[in-house]
Amino acid sequence: MSVNHNQLNGMLDLLPAEQRVTKIAEHFNSSRLAISSSFGTFSAGFLHLVTKIYPEIPVLFLDTGFHFEETLKFRDEVTELLGLNLINLKPAVSKSQLFSELGAEPFKSNPDRCCQVNKVDPMDLILNDYDLWISGIRSSQTSNRTNLSYLTTNIRNQTKFHPILDWTSKQVWDYLQEYELPVHPLFEKGFTSIGCEPCTSLGSGDADDRSGRWGGDKNECGLHL
Ligand code: SF4
Repeated sequence: MSVNHNQLNGMLDLLPAEQRVTKIAEHFNSSRLAISSSFGTFSAGFLHLVTKIYPEIPVLFLDTGFHFEETLKFRDEVTELLGLNLINLKPAVSKSQLFSELGAEPFKSNPDRCCQVNKVDPMDLILNDYDLWISGIRSSQTSNRTNLSYLTTNIRNQTKFHPILDWTSKQVWDYLQEYELPVHPLFEKGFTSIGCEPCTSLGSGDADDRSGRWGGDKNECGLHL
């Protein structure tokens, strides 16, 4: 079915997040939807919101091989708690191939290439199997996300849906409290945005703060560009 993104975005803007998630099934086959999650700081809320409407939806997790042990445990805890249909995506390039190409610290020598191999390529591959990629990114998180729409086609021609694009960090927090959902265990140690271990350090601001990710000009892995 052809979908007019402008019209649909106008409608989605008028709805609360849960109704946006329900509404999307009028325009896309619900068996062709997938949701991605990094199992980061506040991921459990968004996962709960989507999977209570689509319990069987595949949850795509990029198993880069560089995650904190705490993230993998949190992933397993949330998966069990919510009964998620989890799919761990492994990169096609082995770590020994990557180290041989970029040295022992690919996240330092060439983080863009490291993200491409470990995140973007595996996601691109599996998204060939789906019509719509649902993501929990929010406008307030980075400058790149400020002008996104609820429904958009990205530079890799993937159709993406961002149902909580307009949520503030307080709304995310309130949702977690309302449903008594867990937060990532490293949050209480001061980590506000949690990705791969070598590219994550303590942030310096509020709950939307991504200053602890990568450093320098890089604040996106490339997935959401
Ligand atoms: S976030 Fe860091 S370790 Fe993870 S894939 Fe990107 S560069 Fe590599």
